[in-house]
Amino acid sequence: MAKRTIRDIDVSGRRVLVRVDFNVPLSEGHIADDTRIRATLPTIRYLLERGAAVILMSHLGRPKGVEERLRLRPVAERLSQLLGMPVQYVTDCVGAKVRKAAADLQPGQVLLLENLRFHPEEEANDPEFARELASLAEIYVNDAFGSAHRAHASTVGVARYLPAVAGFLMERELKYLNETLKSPGRPFVLLIGGAKVSDKIGVLEHLAGRVDAMLVGGGMANTFLMAKGYSVGASLAEPDKVATAKEVMDRMEREGKSVVLPVDVVVALEVRSDVETKVCPVDRVPDGWRIVDIGPETLKVFGEVLSRARTVVWNGPMGVFEIPEFANGTRSVAQVLAGLGNAVTIVCGGESAAAVEQLGLAERMTHVSTGGGAALELLEGKELPGVAVLQDIREEA
Ligand code: ADP
Ligand code: MG
Repeated sequence: MAKRTIRDIDVSGRRVLVRVDFNVPLSEGHIADDTRIRATLPTIRYLLERGAAVILMSHLGRPKGVEERLRLRPVAERLSQLLGMPVQYVTDCVGAKVRKAAADLQPGQVLLLENLRFHPEEEANDPEFARELASLAEIYVNDAFGSAHRAHASTVGVARYLPAVAGFLMERELKYLNETLKSPGRPFVLLIGGAKVSDKIGVLEHLAGRVDAMLVGGGMANTFLMAKGYSVGASLAEPDKVATAKEVMDRMEREGKSVVLPVDVVVALEVRSDVETKVCPVDRVPDGWRIVDIGPETLKVFGEVLSRARTVVWNGPMGVFEIPEFANGTRSVAQVLAGLGNAVTIVCGGESAAAVEQLGLAERMTHVSTGGGAALELLEGKELPGVAVLQDIREEA
């Protein structure tokens, strides 16, 4: 069911506690990439414009207790630059100092609390800790899609004490990942790759019953090729997942749908730059060589299927795209997706989203998910705990 959002409630003059995902990559104390901060600006601006006092909370990294390098002060500074206004910051997320800062906060002002994970109670979803967080505000908003698959105090616990609604980023993620998957335009194609079958079993099994075709690339395809009886040389592969690959292919075949595997691949003796590579058909992978990318004939076959699709979900790179010589397959499928005028194109997964961003093609996809693990759990058909606790839009009587 669709979730209520900040558009559906009156926030003016209210203290609003917003769970955001400010878990940004850091390098030597600096924010290496502020995409996640930017992604929350629409929600924060909307609340400020309507006269809310906005209290933001997030985790950063995986601290064990208080760790100076994981304080959120640099995030407060960056957010202040992006918003063009002061952002108040407190060095804890609970306690007397925090309560005072929250109580003094005026409509139109922003306060950022300290890293939630400095307290183990956050991940333990401790009810008392959640109640203290909730006591700072009158309304709870979750805009941290990337953390919604975790049942923590700030994603689940607080919703017991406050009216809970979605922010705009959360709304957008659910719209594309939940709603589109429920009633996709057809043909609905899953383009799946990445390292391993074992990471994606849940996705393969859930979507096998829903898609019209599956295109398999990346390291994961090697296990599927083994299931077809091909030798994959020294490639990354999972012999113990061959049975899983077979089951997925059998099921799709029984339902009259296709699983399309690579017909040719790029192979190398080592997975690094500046090594000899060659392209070979999948039945001629030389002993000792490794499959590092899909080949040109495969790209033609994949491109053909994709060109007819009305909905494409893409998860997992087609090769070891981090090494430029092995990035052609990933780049090419990204370009094909970017050029599909009439299809809904959804990209999810940490590395896949990064690849699309690097290529400068993110704007040309219908949606690039900001949540790696959370997005995959939706593709597995799971309900996310941080979403379940948000209020449903009730049908009008
Ligand atoms: P995502 O984060 O998009 O869900 P995964 O984490 O499943 O994707 O996989 C990404 C990784 O898969 C990349 O680091 C890439 O190097 C690796 N990969 C892709 N193809 C191969 C291959 N043929 N052999 C080894 N690793 C591969
Ligand atoms: Mg990954």
